[in-house]
Amino acid sequence: MSVIPQHKYLIRYQTQFPATTTPHDLFIHRRRVICSATTPRPIPNQLTTDPTTHNSNNPPRLTISCPPLPNDPTLQSTWSHRAWVAGGCTTVLISLAKAAVGAANSHIWLQPILAGYVGYILADLGSGVYHWGIDNYGDASTPVFGTQIEAFQGHHKWPWTITKREFANNLHALARAITFFVLPLDLAVNDPVLHGFICMCSGCIMFSQQFHAWAHSTKSKLPPLVVALQDMGLLVSRSQHGAHHRPPYNNNYCIVSGVWNEFLDNNNVFEALEMALYFKLGVRPRSWSEPNSDWIEEVEASPPVSVQ
Ligand SMILES: [Zn+2]
Ligand SMILES: [Zn+2]
Repeated sequence: MSVIPQHKYLIRYQTQFPATTTPHDLFIHRRRVICSATTPRPIPNQLTTDPTTHNSNNPPRLTISCPPLPNDPTLQSTWSHRAWVAGGCTTVLISLAKAAVGAANSHIWLQPILAGYVGYILADLGSGVYHWGIDNYGDASTPVFGTQIEAFQGHHKWPWTITKREFANNLHALARAITFFVLPLDLAVNDPVLHGFICMCSGCIMFSQQFHAWAHSTKSKLPPLVVALQDMGLLVSRSQHGAHHRPPYNNNYCIVSGVWNEFLDNNNVFEALEMALYFKLGVRPRSWSEPNSDWIEEVEASPPVSVQ
């Protein structure tokens, strides 16, 4: 909340004047004072949850206080973010190297390439299922996934902030997961076909947040190669992902290539999963209560106007 100055002119009445008083002195004396009222400024991106909504009939609803500022520390990369992204990239490169070396030694190239293609296709499906899950269930206090849920809720309220988020800041959470789960596989497996699948699937999942950020950018700000890949449908397109941020807010969850979106949405796959979870566990997805003000996109706020 900003400080809004209130300017008032106090009137001081003077009833007795010395003999030397001039007409000018008889003017009412004015003094300007400035009053201000302040309320604590919420921490950017801070989430508060409404406890009344935490039951089976109401999905957990997150209230996000205010958008991050363009140079907000929450959008910047730290050395730990960069270290996790370096770890994730190393993990993917080890898998790629093992696939290439194995293929060269065995003179079998087709199967590892096909396995890589399958990995790329399934990474898109995986990104959609994961995105649907954290969009609809849990809140900032959810173990393991709480930070991601918090970040995606903030993203729905202020989608433009993803384009201001620095590279390692945007990718570090997925890079950490890839390092944890895929690095042991790198060490345990030597099959080139399996590594063809692993390197493409894990690489696309790790970079899905970058593909997502590109889907929010304007064409003029993107490298021509990225625009070409989006136009060819190899990366999720700006128009397809744009539909995810418009009512009814329950479609186009896939953010690698978006190739699965049409199938999943036309066949109501996520609606069926939501119904199954509701009848089994009594948990309602957030999308059933949308759109509400928490999910409606806000434009960048203009600074408060002060009256002088
Ligand atoms: Zn979403
Ligand atoms: Zn988005």
